[in-house]
Amino acid sequence: MKNDLVLNVDALEEANQPFEADLPREFLDGVLRADPPTEFHAAGAAHLSGRSTKMVRKVLVQATGRIPLQGNCKRCLKPVTLEEQVELIRTWVPNDQVRKGTGHHLKGEEIEATFDPQTVDEETYGGKQIDLSQAVREQILLSVPASPLCREDCKGLCPRCGKDLNDGDCGCDRKAIDPRWSALQGIQLDKKEK
Ligand SMILES: [Zn+2]
Ligand SMILES: [Zn+2]
Repeated sequence: MKNDLVLNVDALEEANQPFEADLPREFLDGVLRADPPTEFHAAGAAHLSGRSTKMVRKVLVQATGRIPLQGNCKRCLKPVTLEEQVELIRTWVPNDQVRKGTGHHLKGEEIEATFDPQTVDEETYGGKQIDLSQAVREQILLSVPASPLCREDCKGLCPRCGKDLNDGDCGCDRKAIDPRWSALQGIQLDKKEK
């Protein structure tokens, strides 16, 4: 099976070249429904496009795409669909070149070299293939909002009668259990009991 997220380093040319990757819906759901799952499912497939550049054996990939997401509004439970932009900018360095300093080829003694903390978005790879899936997975999870909301100021459902309060008020007395105030309930309790 062809996997667009695995690059063959030998086949990459030195200059900027187009990078294209299909992200099937199953892949996206695998990311979104992992443990711990997000509150979203994939609403379809996505596509990343950008460029890859090889400098000797170091590979830079820059790509963007839009991830179609669906979920249910956490306040009113209506289905919500949205697209989030995802951006990947990362460098892959061969295992055997991970050394402090200039990358001069040293023999043997510096195998245990540590990463420079300033190059946190550098990944390593072994052999002739670079698997981008973990990096793509991380970028997707960074772009996904915490919870689905149909709109920022969604009023939610009445906890008494279940009416969608975005369609108008139902007349119930919800003061005590309005979810927007639940965090304040402890504080206001004294006042209310009087
Ligand atoms: Zn809502
Ligand atoms: Zn009501």
